[in-house]
Amino acid sequence: MWKISQFTVVHDLACRGRPGLLLVLNTATQRSMVVAEPTWAAAAGSAACPDSAEPSTRTVIAALADAGYLVAEALDENAGFLDGFDRRRLAPARINPIIAFTTDCNIACTYCYEEGVRATTMTEPVVAATVRWLERRIVLDGVIEVVPNLFGGEPLLHRRLLTDFMTRVNAMGDAHSATVAYAMSSNGMLLTEELARVLAQLRLRQIQISLDGPPAVHDQRRVGHRGQSTFAQALRGIEHACRWIPDVTVKVNFDRHNAAAVPDLFDELAARGTAERLTVKLEAIAHQFPGSKACHPSSYVIPPETPEMADTYLGLTQAARRRGLRVTPDTAHTTPCMYTSQWGVIIGPDGGISKCISLVGRPEHEVGNVLAGDWDTDRYDAAMNVRKKVTDCVSEKCAYLPVCAGGCSYESAVRGMSTATRFCTKPALERYHFGRQLLRHEARLTELGVTPLGDPDFSLPVAPAPGRAPTPVLLPMPTRRDSAT
Ligand code: SF4
Ligand code: SF4
Repeated sequence: MWKISQFTVVHDLACRGRPGLLLVLNTATQRSMVVAEPTWAAAAGSAACPDSAEPSTRTVIAALADAGYLVAEALDENAGFLDGFDRRRLAPARINPIIAFTTDCNIACTYCYEEGVRATTMTEPVVAATVRWLERRIVLDGVIEVVPNLFGGEPLLHRRLLTDFMTRVNAMGDAHSATVAYAMSSNGMLLTEELARVLAQLRLRQIQISLDGPPAVHDQRRVGHRGQSTFAQALRGIEHACRWIPDVTVKVNFDRHNAAAVPDLFDELAARGTAERLTVKLEAIAHQFPGSKACHPSSYVIPPETPEMADTYLGLTQAARRRGLRVTPDTAHTTPCMYTSQWGVIIGPDGGISKCISLVGRPEHEVGNVLAGDWDTDRYDAAMNVRKKVTDCVSEKCAYLPVCAGGCSYESAVRGMSTATRFCTKPALERYHFGRQLLRHEARLTELGVTPLGDPDFSLPVAPAPGRAPTPVLLPMPTRRDSAT
């Protein structure tokens, strides 16, 4: 009558020093529990015919079915997942398109894909067409909440353009009784207290400012055009934001170059007393397309399919939490992503519409242009066609389907494959989702005798425990001059 859900994964806690206990998690419900091995074995063994089981086992089976670890034998979980996935990503009531006003930037990050691209900025016709694009989503598609993400390059380089756009979209949204608010991604260098106040009044609710490590490390990667340091100014921007903008996120772009030093950044944020006002978002640096002008060595990129990637996300999450910082649960490949979500787009300075930030500036991946009224429907539909990508995942009954759905289309494209080809990171997902539950229930599991992550027997490469002397293993970073020669 019941079967173990294909999305239920069982981990033996003997690997964490506690034999006899299992950690059982379900990737669809995101629930997890700890259960004694004999209890699980009895319930799993009798799930198909609970009536013949002991009363105590029947009670356990009923509880497991109630929580979704067991499902009805006849249930087609793949079909159920795909229907639910479509409901989440199609016809959303709230959208957050990214508006890239400019490719112009006042700093030159070593890993930036826009490096070497001639700077362009939105003209009045493109701004007007972008506002019309948003209006059509409200009027034609039933969207009731619009949260544009103001993006660049560096959006604060063009303050007038930015505030005019916000004023126009606010008026348009009000005219249709739609809710309008904004998010912004910035390097924080130009954010004064006065500007933070003005932007908050124009409904900026969330700002994300990048810091890549303590000053010495950050300044190696996020370099001023004249080689000057940028850490102190970005940090000032964060402090101004904290006074006016409700949700302030510090984005940490990590790879093998800076990961070991990032806990020092968390120490600095905690020491400044800003920890309770900030959220940390961790984002792994990705491989670039061949021929990219970015001078960041590709050997620093952590391969996304490896346990090293999982350990780095987990280690940095633990390091942040132990210093009182909140961390968003998203990884770089959280699904459904903008690529697979309806109205998940980035509109570039020339009005070009792309389905992924990392694919901006590549005409072969554009799905249309706001100046053309809408977009090329065939290309848009191809980007949205996840079902083709997950064919093998479905036939293999992959337990990670709900958190992966065939993987990242950019990662496929950057390896020369079609964006409809799956990009499988299963070894990393397996380790990450187990570790995430260990972190989530760390206190309770420790009481049960489970060894927490990060303790000496578990090899986390990047998370020295608080109080231990930080040992950043800094790798050399080439300067732009080095990379040009
Ligand atoms: S395709 Fe990949 S990089 Fe692009 S939005 Fe989706 S998950 Fe992110
Ligand atoms: S790409 Fe791999 S991990 Fe992702 S759903 Fe498919 S089989 Fe599972």
